[in-house]
Amino acid sequence: MDQPNENDNNNDYGSSSNRRNRSSRSSNETWNPSSWKKAVAKQQPTYEDEAELNNAISTLNRVAPLVFAGEVRSLLEKLARVSLGQGMVLMGGDCAESFKEFHVNHVRDTFRILLQMALVMTYGSSMPVVKIGRMAGQFAKPRSQPNEVVNGVTLPSYRGDSVNAEEFDPKARRNDPQRMVDAYHQSTQTLNILRAFSTGGYADIWRLHAWNLDFVDSTEEGSRYRLLASKVDESLRFMKAIGVDTKRPEFTTVDFYTSHECLLLPYEEALTRQDSITGKWYDCSAHMLWIGERTRNLDGAHLEFIKGIGNPLGVKISDECTPEQLIQTINIMNPTNTPGRLSIIVRMGAEKLRKNLPGLIGAVQKEGKNVVWISDPVHGNTRKTQSGYKTRDFDSVRAELAAFFDVHGEMGSHPGGVHLEMTGENVTECIGGLAEITEDSLKKRYNTACDPRLNGSQALELAFLIAERMRT
Ligand code: PEP
Ligand code: MN
Repeated sequence: MDQPNENDNNNDYGSSSNRRNRSSRSSNETWNPSSWKKAVAKQQPTYEDEAELNNAISTLNRVAPLVFAGEVRSLLEKLARVSLGQGMVLMGGDCAESFKEFHVNHVRDTFRILLQMALVMTYGSSMPVVKIGRMAGQFAKPRSQPNEVVNGVTLPSYRGDSVNAEEFDPKARRNDPQRMVDAYHQSTQTLNILRAFSTGGYADIWRLHAWNLDFVDSTEEGSRYRLLASKVDESLRFMKAIGVDTKRPEFTTVDFYTSHECLLLPYEEALTRQDSITGKWYDCSAHMLWIGERTRNLDGAHLEFIKGIGNPLGVKISDECTPEQLIQTINIMNPTNTPGRLSIIVRMGAEKLRKNLPGLIGAVQKEGKNVVWISDPVHGNTRKTQSGYKTRDFDSVRAELAAFFDVHGEMGSHPGGVHLEMTGENVTECIGGLAEITEDSLKKRYNTACDPRLNGSQALELAFLIAERMRT
């Protein structure tokens, strides 16, 4: 994890009371952290008690930033290189973090599998891999229905632990502003663990390559992966043998960044602070923020908010996004065409992707826009089983990722990375993969608070697939 740099230590990340009185020195003269309120904000909870909301917001206005401007800028630089075809991005973590599932081991396991995947991808692509957790802030969820009906009883939908609770109970489903404060505090703990593991020896390459590959044993595909893994091992041993000092920080520490969907705008606004050196506003709740498929409308509050912050941004797009819409979105989110500023996260299912992505890439190429193309091969592949589990078939996830690489190959553009809902734990939420999870075994360890996640071995399997694609 990058440390705050010297300049940042001098920065005044003003709390709300002084920041509201300051005029913005950003180039975006009419923008301020609350200007989103003039637009329609989709997917927001309604809070019944305004005093309670104000109380929570005023607490959040005074808390320490979770991330610092210097760190955010270093991520921007790394992503700029990816947008020029000189690196790859790996983003991953829970669909929704939960208060109940929080544990140091949970954070550690996801962190570890992400680093292992990154190692495999680095070997395969011969490029640096930018590691970004969907962690330390991924609490709020967009919902397709505002209410949920069970046995004739209607209650508000669960919107993520920073809004309400999952239990189907009127008290639990009440939107509680204090939960934003709780989510902040849990994020500080997660970040503290991530920062410690990034630099405190846990990220040592010699520990990481000791991966568990039991799942690859039986099949032909599996043995190809084993071969690749043994080549990574061989390269490390070779470097050691010729005297490369593998105790240097490049081998023992990592830069690890955080991200989440920019959905719950009062929370994001409260964590937005002005960097007194550059005058730029940064949303200090995460290094990178993205806008979801459901809230990316051009005249909406989410775009209005996110365009004013200096963080690297992402936007998720399904097959409903037209090339014209995409260009308009890019013009709003990255008017200066700064490399690394904007990632387009494509999630549409293999078939639709083969049909739609060429037109989208073509438009971006024609307009000369700098973007990072990232595949989210999970959100276009969610289905419900007969027994009522929300799941994803590993085969469809793999097919979408393969289609993403194929289309970029045809268009001569750079497949910049992958965004996954995954965990390091051995959950049974997605069907298939070499670990052979079946529809019947879903119930064994189905723990997600929202969408189904790939487990550790399924996620690693995808990393091998990416590595193979990047080598050809
Ligand atoms: C998500 O990333 O959890 C999500 C809701 O994605 P999308 O906006 O792509 O539907
Ligand atoms: Mn999801």
